[in-house]
Amino acid sequence: MDKNYLSEIFKSQKDYFYSGTTKDLSFRLNQLEKLRKGILQNEQLIYEGLKKDLHKSREETFLTEIYMVLAEIKYMKKNLKNLMKPHKVKTPLVAKPGKSFIYPEPYGSTLIISPWNYPFQLLMSPLVGAMAAGNCSVLKPSEYCPNTSEIIEKIIEENFSPKYIKVIQGGIEETSYLLEQPFDYIFFTGSPSVGKIVMSAAAKNLTPVTLELGGKSPCIVEKDADIELAAKRIAWGKFLNSGQTCIAPDYIFVSKEISDSLTEKITHYIKEFYGEDASLSENYVHIINEKHFLRLSSYMENQNIISGGYTDINNLFIAPTLIKNPSVDSPVMQEEIFGPVLPVIEYENIQEAVNFIKKNPKPLALYLFTQNEDNKTFVYKNTYSGGMCINDVLSHITTEYLPFGGVGNSGMGQYHGKSTFDTFTHYKSIMERGKFDIKAKFPPYKKTSFIIRFLKK
Ligand code: NAD
Repeated sequence: MDKNYLSEIFKSQKDYFYSGTTKDLSFRLNQLEKLRKGILQNEQLIYEGLKKDLHKSREETFLTEIYMVLAEIKYMKKNLKNLMKPHKVKTPLVAKPGKSFIYPEPYGSTLIISPWNYPFQLLMSPLVGAMAAGNCSVLKPSEYCPNTSEIIEKIIEENFSPKYIKVIQGGIEETSYLLEQPFDYIFFTGSPSVGKIVMSAAAKNLTPVTLELGGKSPCIVEKDADIELAAKRIAWGKFLNSGQTCIAPDYIFVSKEISDSLTEKITHYIKEFYGEDASLSENYVHIINEKHFLRLSSYMENQNIISGGYTDINNLFIAPTLIKNPSVDSPVMQEEIFGPVLPVIEYENIQEAVNFIKKNPKPLALYLFTQNEDNKTFVYKNTYSGGMCINDVLSHITTEYLPFGGVGNSGMGQYHGKSTFDTFTHYKSIMERGKFDIKAKFPPYKKTSFIIRFLKK
């Protein structure tokens, strides 16, 4: 990739942004509508791309990739006028006469980098926010899902000028070039290790970042939980996209008293969802590539497999697999699993689970199944995570009313709904003063100044 080409794209977007075109409400609304239509016109190709890249079914592609983006566009179109409005705030006595307000303004040129696991949604949803907030964007899809990345580029090229939105394909080399440019905002979704690279590159230009990262999201199932409900929801949320979901339950902590019945029921639901042999299911997603297939297969070595465990490298297939009580020092409990392997660890007391979670990096999501109110309060007040969902998994990210993001090792910044707009917006504080000044504000100061005595009160 030619470095000059990238800096020219960057420069043309800066110029276009400073022309002011992207800031107009009707421009923003028209572009969002164009994106919506572009997605719907290419819907069939999106299904085909996801099938080739991940063996994802049409229905799962609609729900987890297309619908999420359409919902974000709908929200922005409905709320944009209000979101863009400057809003008045109070002016303190010392600054009176005067008026104060907060003016939402776009950052300018933004860079959005995405991973391969939800390759359409995780690039397009932040883009919707960047557009709604009035920015220009360079998009860097993942090199691991070339078919989906190609369709994304097609949709963007057919609908937008490169000085407004441009897709740059490529891997580490291209991303590194892009990261050298002084973008006004970087929105990165990916692993914590690459997040650190992105943040240090951004630091050189003092560019603000959102880092949507991953990690190990625990799921606690307490003895008073509705076991049937917990098993069904865990089996769904863990094996959706074959566990290649940043907020999939990474491992289960379960009360010893109900451990066997929970695992039996999870196994039951795996079969109900994907049949006796998941390799024959059209609804079961496969592993993205051989590197990840081999990594995931190695997690199962020398473990007590209680369900699943079979693999097929030719089809990049790994069966939904349950492992009982792995050592907490084993790789499956040390690394983010990001695949269809589910360790189940038994505890005597819920405090053990909470202690373990607190000793480890702050997760992106934390799940708790219980019917007891004290347990709910105890866990959410004594653990630290990006988000939490009680008596379900994944559902907390399906609403535009709850901001989504990590904390610590799982990231920084949030998006979805209003938070997506906020993320790509700089809230500029503006004060306009009247002509009157308090004399005491200017030197030479008097020791017993009235203003100092007043402010001390
Ligand atoms: P990744 O970090 O390897 O790659 C993400 C992006 O960074 C890709 O576009 C890739 O081309 C680029 N990249 C990779 N190495 C780079 C380098 N050295 N320098 C510059 N750019 C580089 O992540 P992935 O494997 O694509 O995705 C899996 C990870 O993403 C998991 O950790 C998962 O939890 C996380 N994730 C987080 C969210 C979230 O919303 N928080 C969503 C999905 C995935």
